[in-house]
Amino acid sequence: MSRPDFPRTLVEFQRRFATEAACEAYLAASRWPDGFHCPHCGHPEAYALPARRLRQCRACRYQVSTTAGTVLHRTRTPLTTWFWAAYLMITNKRGLSALTLQRQLGIGRYETAWMLLHKLRRATVNANRTRLAGVIEVDET
Ligand SMILES: [Zn+2]
Repeated sequence: MSRPDFPRTLVEFQRRFATEAACEAYLAASRWPDGFHCPHCGHPEAYALPARRLRQCRACRYQVSTTAGTVLHRTRTPLTTWFWAAYLMITNKRGLSALTLQRQLGIGRYETAWMLLHKLRRATVNANRTRLAGVIEVDET
């Protein structure tokens, strides 16, 4: 099984990533392209706890973050905002400014928009730009 593709049109994107849960499900699918496997006991099934961005093993109840090791880990910014920012950055060939991002997404603080852009840029340096998985898989350190 391969990683989920990143939508190429606004309409498709809007439909697919309309909610936090939808974004979280995409992250989980990217993290476990061959299906969940518990890192503790190896069990292949988990309960989804999308609001907490976790998967809990059905066998041993071990909890795994769907965002650990990515730029999205522990973010207070909604995933939908991150996804839109990634979309705008990927589709904006001439370069996206933090100010444009702030205005287009209705982000309250300029610093937040700047931080999103900065982290996404760093994360996509060597990534496949057609897939959001490339955006989210880079370690923050
Ligand atoms: Zn387990």
